[in-house]
Amino acid sequence: MADNRAFVMGHPIAHSRSPMLHGYWLKQLGIEGSYEKLDIAPEAIAAFFADFHAQGWIGGNVTVPHKTAVIPYLDRIDADAAAMGAVNTLYWDEGALVGGNTDSLGFLGNLDELIPDWQNGAKRAVVIGAGGAARAAVYGLLQRGLEVAICNRTAAKAAALAQHFDAKPKAYGLEAMGDLLENCDLLVNATSLGMVNQPPMDFDLTRLKPSAIVYDVIYVPLETALLQAAKAKGHRTVDGLGMLLHQGTVGFAHWFKQRPEVSAPLRALLVEDIRAKTPGA
Ligand code: NAP
Repeated sequence: MADNRAFVMGHPIAHSRSPMLHGYWLKQLGIEGSYEKLDIAPEAIAAFFADFHAQGWIGGNVTVPHKTAVIPYLDRIDADAAAMGAVNTLYWDEGALVGGNTDSLGFLGNLDELIPDWQNGAKRAVVIGAGGAARAAVYGLLQRGLEVAICNRTAAKAAALAQHFDAKPKAYGLEAMGDLLENCDLLVNATSLGMVNQPPMDFDLTRLKPSAIVYDVIYVPLETALLQAAKAKGHRTVDGLGMLLHQGTVGFAHWFKQRPEVSAPLRALLVEDIRAKTPGA
């Protein structure tokens, strides 16, 4: 058994691509260690944490449905997890088991990598959605100083999300989209619309400011109908795969003490896997 053992825990977990990602970096960096998939049912969480020390885990990822359920078992959560209200990464800090959240760093890292000058003149963002992905996007964009509007099918959820942030972003229902698009520098789809087996995101982009960037957090398929429509209109676009890859670098650095890189071969590996498992992706 390797000493450096990390994990991803969820239920179900078979679909997770995190082992592929971390396995690639372990091999590439020549680090002795492992990253294991753990299917932990909700009723098994207490036993998992009771045994955590004895198992010698150096940390891991937490995914659906455990992102808030793990919190009572931790010594503390960090500022990012507190802002997000959810934990996706566990790591040790001076003997304390800490819960963090790397989704907003992943969201921004992807944008910074694919469009390095995206902040030149960018003032206003519109984030569609009010779930976990939207919260990560809003948090990241507010940290970078953008004015953010949150638009969601259920307007009350957009308003509730806005309340979590000191900057108190404005919140709307989807009917406000048309007007918001005219002054929007960055449009983000953070809903599940457009994901495989979900209806497409079919907003009319006619009124979208021509210089606007369109970012879809979905990565299955890699190019959603929204991104196709945006490209056809000449907008610069960002897909969601890099968000997954960049968020992974943060956890990996906590556990294995080296910051890995998001590289073209790594991206190609994930693209190949997505295409193999999702016809038409
Ligand atoms: P979530 O918490 O369940 O939120 C889903 C959001 O989608 C809600 O705002 C919901 O609106 C909206 N929605 C769902 N169906 C809709 C419909 N038919 N019409 C309009 N809005 C609809 O999910 P999440 O965790 O935020 O994830 C959202 C997406 O982001 C997923 O596709 C996920 O795979 C992706 N994601 C990607 C990454 C990455 O690393 N790239 C990371 C996290 C998530 P209501 O509030 O009205 O229900």
